[in-house]
Amino acid sequence: MQCGHCSADYHPQTAIRQLGQDADLFWQVEYEPCPRCQKLNIRLVGGRTEATGLKAHKLTVVYPKGASRKPAPPVRSDQS
Ligand SMILES: [Zn+2]
Repeated sequence: MQCGHCSADYHPQTAIRQLGQDADLFWQVEYEPCPRCQKLNIRLVGGRTEATGLKAHKLTVVYPKGASRKPAPPVRSDQS
C-alpha cells in the first residue's frame, strides 16, 4: 500500500465501516492511517459479498482527493 499523501509504502491496518446494501452493491468505507504522515487514506468500496469477503466492483478514493489507485511509477532509478 502506498500513501496517497506522502507516497510512503506502508503495511496498512485497514479499518472498515460498513454502510450497507443498496439495490446493486454492498458499500463500505475502508481507511487506514499512514504511519509516516499520520494522515488517513480513505476509500469508498462497493462490491458483492462472497465467502472470502467483499469483492470490490467499484472503488473510489475519497481522501486524498484526486489520488488514484494506479500502480505507482518506479521511484528508484537504475541509471545511477
Ligand atoms: Zn503518508
